[in-house]
Amino acid sequence: MSNTPITSDIDFEKDGKQVTYLHVPYSRNDSAWGALLIPIIVIKNGTGPTIYFNGGSHGGEYEGPVCLLKLARELQPEQIQGRVIIIPALNLPAVKKGERLSPIDHKDMNRVFPGKSDGTISEVIAHYVHDFILPLCDVVIDLHSGGYSLELMPFISMHYLDNETQRQDTLAALRTFQAPISLISREFTGEGLLDYAVEAMGKVFLWTELGGGARVSASSVKIAEIGVRNILKHFKLIDGEIIARETKGLQASRFMEAPDAENYHRVTVTGIYEPFYELDYEVTVGEAIGQVHFVEQPLRPPELVLAQRSGFIIGLRSPGHVEAGDCVALVAHNINSSIGM
Ligand code: CA
Repeated sequence: MSNTPITSDIDFEKDGKQVTYLHVPYSRNDSAWGALLIPIIVIKNGTGPTIYFNGGSHGGEYEGPVCLLKLARELQPEQIQGRVIIIPALNLPAVKKGERLSPIDHKDMNRVFPGKSDGTISEVIAHYVHDFILPLCDVVIDLHSGGYSLELMPFISMHYLDNETQRQDTLAALRTFQAPISLISREFTGEGLLDYAVEAMGKVFLWTELGGGARVSASSVKIAEIGVRNILKHFKLIDGEIIARETKGLQASRFMEAPDAENYHRVTVTGIYEPFYELDYEVTVGEAIGQVHFVEQPLRPPELVLAQRSGFIIGLRSPGHVEAGDCVALVAHNINSSIGM
């Protein structure tokens, strides 16, 4: 059994509803024997699949925590068959501060997996999730939003997967979530994602991006709530019909794809970014989608940003100030919704 400095009275094998904390040692000037208390909720009834809902890996992404706090209060053991593990705010200090990174070790919780039992506080938390929670799970749903720096059209997403069974199971879950967009994508953000850790174990992993700008949007919270319950129904943890978007008079989920580094548009200069279009605008490769202005050089022509792929703008940078290397737009293209069926 793996070691961890984290202690908890949680018993993952016990039936019923447990609402408790992970005690993460956090020694500091004003609290020699202090601990960070991360809320964890486990709801279990009999045998069945285990689903882990994770929120708040980054601060400033509020729909996940809001949706999961509500789910934790509402869901009762007698309503389920199986086990639901909920952590509404994995990076609690970041969530409390509204910042992406941990204010304690300045690490990105979603870049430190599989973590380290003797590492910094984010690494210790990631290690606990990796070694003590993930092995119990069949399905992991990670709720993100655009946060401070991005405005995203609400989507549920999966990565390209090589294992055909895992790919089909993940596609079926993606389809079930019923977000406005179902995106199949590849990411170019480096190693250490929870995503890759779960996928390497052969399990189903999905994540959301629900709006952004570090605000809570009413429509995004609803998308998350319907999606999370649809997932619970799909894996037969709770009874009930999957709520399809069409039954609510909404457009069916759009299937989209963002396979390449070129789908992510980065600026190469520092300045003020002026986007030419709003979200959901359709662009053609080579078309100018925005420009960077140089506030201290009035006569210097702005630097144009050209579309590297044709498709729809589904993500935009929120703050006007950009540094070289910042992502200012995500472009994805439509694909046939019958993919994998
Ligand atoms: Ca995020």
